[in-house]
Amino acid sequence: MPRSCTICAHPKREEIDHHLVGDSSNLSVSSLFGVSESAIRRHKGNHLPAKLVLAEKAAEVAEADNLLAQVQDLQTRTLAILEAAEHTQQHRTALGAIREARSNLELLAKLLGELDDRPQVNVLISTEWLQLRTTIITALERHPQARESVLRAVEGAGSG
Ligand SMILES: [Zn+2]
Repeated sequence: MPRSCTICAHPKREEIDHHLVGDSSNLSVSSLFGVSESAIRRHKGNHLPAKLVLAEKAAEVAEADNLLAQVQDLQTRTLAILEAAEHTQQHRTALGAIREARSNLELLAKLLGELDDRPQVNVLISTEWLQLRTTIITALERHPQARESVLRAVEGAGSG
């Protein structure tokens, strides 16, 4: 960083940047930290944006990671409900759980796609999808009619 920028060289630079990102005016920040307003203005215009972009990306990734963990947790619980419902022959509950699992999966695919930063995610080959597919097919083995309609629905979602 350029030595000429008193803000970049300031021991409280992080704190200053924090204020600049918030609602504080250049003038109030300059008086708060005892630096010149022109230095603040120059720093804000030339040095802060690059930092902000990085911070924003990090925050986005963290947010996506957090969402991903939540959806994965949700999916685990949904699949547990599906299994329990299947064991106790609660077909309506089982079908509801399958619908939930499917929407969780769609969300997972979207999140993974954003994390990977790839334009497309092939939902048909993702590990989560293959696991869920197996679970669904196994769970519905004794309910061919339900299985058929579920398979039709998820194939449609996969190709669309
Ligand atoms: Zn600077």
